[in-house]
Amino acid sequence: MGQEKGKLCDEYEIQDILGRGGFSVVRRGIKIKTDGQKSSQQVAIKTLKRFGTSASTPSGSFRVSAEKSIASMGLPAWNQVSISDALLTNEILVMRKIVENVSPHPNVIDLYDVYEDQSGVHLVLELCSGGELFDRIVAQERYSEAGAAAVVKQIAQGLAALHQANIVHRDLKPENCLFFNKSDDSTLKIMDFGLSSVEEFTDPVVGLFGSIDYVSPEALSQGKITFKSDMWSLGVILYILLSGYPPFIAQSNRQKQQMIMAGDYNFDERTWKNISSSAKHLISNLLQVDSDRRPSAEQLLAHPWVIGDSAKQEQMDAEVVSRLQSFNARRKLRAAAIASVLSSKVLLRTKKLRTLLGSHDLTKEEIDNLKIYFKNICAKGDNATLPEFEE
Ligand code: ATP
Repeated sequence: MGQEKGKLCDEYEIQDILGRGGFSVVRRGIKIKTDGQKSSQQVAIKTLKRFGTSASTPSGSFRVSAEKSIASMGLPAWNQVSISDALLTNEILVMRKIVENVSPHPNVIDLYDVYEDQSGVHLVLELCSGGELFDRIVAQERYSEAGAAAVVKQIAQGLAALHQANIVHRDLKPENCLFFNKSDDSTLKIMDFGLSSVEEFTDPVVGLFGSIDYVSPEALSQGKITFKSDMWSLGVILYILLSGYPPFIAQSNRQKQQMIMAGDYNFDERTWKNISSSAKHLISNLLQVDSDRRPSAEQLLAHPWVIGDSAKQEQMDAEVVSRLQSFNARRKLRAAAIASVLSSKVLLRTKKLRTLLGSHDLTKEEIDNLKIYFKNICAKGDNATLPEFEE
């Protein structure tokens, strides 16, 4: 059994909200020393909401030590959990595996502690205060292929460590890559393992929300998802880094899905003429529909462009950054809309749900997914309320 050690609020002062996910709230925390004074150690506390229970704030939670007790948290059998419980359980299992087999690694987020209470589970994580990958790049205004190669190298290093530990991330995208701090040479860390899989759990947990831009053809066609699926996602990130737009652009998700499954993308001459052939060659290798042909993370780390030998040093066209700015801004708006819809309790009332969904710039597919999601929550009965979080 996990040893009960104390409450979260006795050991961390919980501060401002750093961000919200579909099923989570992330807050800054400051470690309280044994003499009751605040230490200088700042952390990120990610609260994974548990649905179908009465709301409660992290203040009533109990602490369990990271390595020992995640295993003994009495998690339900895999086939008995709801979508949200499955996501919650899965993230904890993957984080346990990371603590056991990967940590500490400079390019993978570290887990320090876990607390559990009625409202869900609170993961005490390494704080990354340097911002999301694309946010930092658009703030720089100009950057070079060599700068993009340095980013790809860090992601590949993190993936190599995860893959070696038999973990497939499955949801690799720029918003899941955060810089540790604001310094120019800050490390980049891979995070958010809610959809990841470990060897014991090959059964896919399907994400209902968000973009399919980074999803591999094999994941879309329900085929076998392997480490190479993460390499596809990295190929998409690289394509966007060098052009400012995604490789698969379509009017609807269905059409986009078909394009992804057919590997139907191109290097438009006007945008790509100044990009090195080595970079394009690398993208072509990563974005191969046949996953076996894609390079592994280890192989990528030996590629001349990633090492920096063949990546151009000169600044890229300003247009690339301005396109990336608009792509990033649109993406953030939609993510914020989905997170706010998901975290709003009043939406259980269908009329309000319709009004709110209509007021956001979401695709038809996203609205449909949200409707299915709320229908499932409502179907759980009168006690199934979305948890409230104090702000
Ligand atoms: P979803 O869980 O639905 O995929 P998400 O990936 O955005 O969404 P979270 O991982 O809960 O959800 O993160 C929400 C936001 O909180 C992130 O976008 C990020 O800005 C912030 N955040 C998460 N973890 C940290 C961290 N360790 N340090 C600093 N900020 C963080």
